[in-house]
Amino acid sequence: MQIISGKDTANSIKAEIAAEVEQLRSDRGRAPHLAAILVGNDPASETYVANKEKSCAEVGFLSSVYRLPENVTEDDLIKTIDFINHDDEIDGLIVQLPLPKHINVDKVVGTINPLKDVDGFHPVNIGKMVLGQDSYIPATPMGILLLLERAKIETLGKHCVVVGRSNIVGTPASILLSRNTNNANCTVTLCHSKTKNLKEICRQADILIVAIGQCEMITEDYIKEGAVVVDVGIHRVKDETKKSGFSLKGDVKHDDKVLKKVSAITPVPGGVGPMTIIGLLINTLKSFKKEFYQ
Ligand code: NDP
Repeated sequence: MQIISGKDTANSIKAEIAAEVEQLRSDRGRAPHLAAILVGNDPASETYVANKEKSCAEVGFLSSVYRLPENVTEDDLIKTIDFINHDDEIDGLIVQLPLPKHINVDKVVGTINPLKDVDGFHPVNIGKMVLGQDSYIPATPMGILLLLERAKIETLGKHCVVVGRSNIVGTPASILLSRNTNNANCTVTLCHSKTKNLKEICRQADILIVAIGQCEMITEDYIKEGAVVVDVGIHRVKDETKKSGFSLKGDVKHDDKVLKKVSAITPVPGGVGPMTIIGLLINTLKSFKKEFYQ
């Protein structure tokens, strides 16, 4: 049984990016620059943004965080986006989600310049991805595909079941895995909360990707013998044995029964999480190199 370490894979990709940045910086006179807008003080969002800054520093990128108060108006948030859209020395812009309830997320994301939309959430990028055109691929699905590729998991002709149809994980993952590309070519089934016979469908999966936000819901009886399981879920669970007071769990129960049955599985933590940041770094580098679509 193979544990597919996102942490190790992310570290080796970071080293490759850092080497490329070193070269590009001398040619271009500056480093790639990622900007993040953080609204309010949500602790999880603070952590995500801090991790992104840390990863940028590790690969030699510049990073900036624009902090706005919880009660910022939609107009002021859009003005900040517009300012960054026009800054030629910023290559990538992300607006950390979730946003406060009074703000229309779709409207805000729609104002990001698609050429700087390194989260790949803008309708132009989503549309291009669906059409198989060059675009920024959303970071988590990109991380999943890269992780499978680097772990040498065969995808061609395999039945891949994706559980969860969110716009940021499940839906793009299902589209990317069904495309006619080297690291995909799966036959894909996309499941969600209204799917009937979820267990039976999951048990047909050669590759099972779970992104449901339900702590440890997927147990051994959802898994086919020898399947590859990608666990996208992240849950903080109270744990008094830990110094931090909590431990991290996935959407899959990683007990002995599951570990005996799978041929490979991504751990939580240290699986898909570190690869999501890699997706963001790759998109920012792509923007810096101005190597694609107009
Ligand atoms: P969402 O809550 O946006 O979507 C969850 C999806 O799962 C929905 O499509 C929902 O169906 C489906 N679902 C929920 N309950 C069930 C169920 N009982 N049976 C079948 N389907 C179900 O979640 P996200 O996609 O944003 O995130 C999923 C998980 O991944 C979360 O734990 C999140 O924290 C984690 N995550 C991890 C990342 C990482 O970097 N590792 C990045 C992003 C997310 P319906 O559409 O019918 O409501």
